[in-house]
Amino acid sequence: MAYASGKHSLAICDRCGFRYKYTQLQEEWNGFRVCPECFEPKHPQLEPVRHLADPEALRHPRPDVPPGVVAGAGVVRTIDANSMMSVTGDVIGSEFSQDAATGEIGTVTVVIS
Ligand SMILES: [Zn+2]
Repeated sequence: MAYASGKHSLAICDRCGFRYKYTQLQEEWNGFRVCPECFEPKHPQLEPVRHLADPEALRHPRPDVPPGVVAGAGVVRTIDANSMMSVTGDVIGSEFSQDAATGEIGTVTVVIS
């Protein structure tokens, strides 16, 4: 759709309400059509800068490991019946093996009446 140029038209400023020539009005960033006295450019603070979190974790880290231990084995914690819990003194953990294990969660009783 074609629009007329409006060179003989009058218009009202959206901010002050005074009458101006249609061609004098300027459009602001918020869509207002205002006179040259009321025109305000968009302040830079109205466009916030994206804040990305500072990266802290390292990709493929290589921490200093004391010699003689296997890295990546994790910490092995065992439950002792006498002291309830004993923790290995090794930070990295110790290697262990197990042939079989059994477990039990509980029982379920179904009553149909
Ligand atoms: Zn105005």
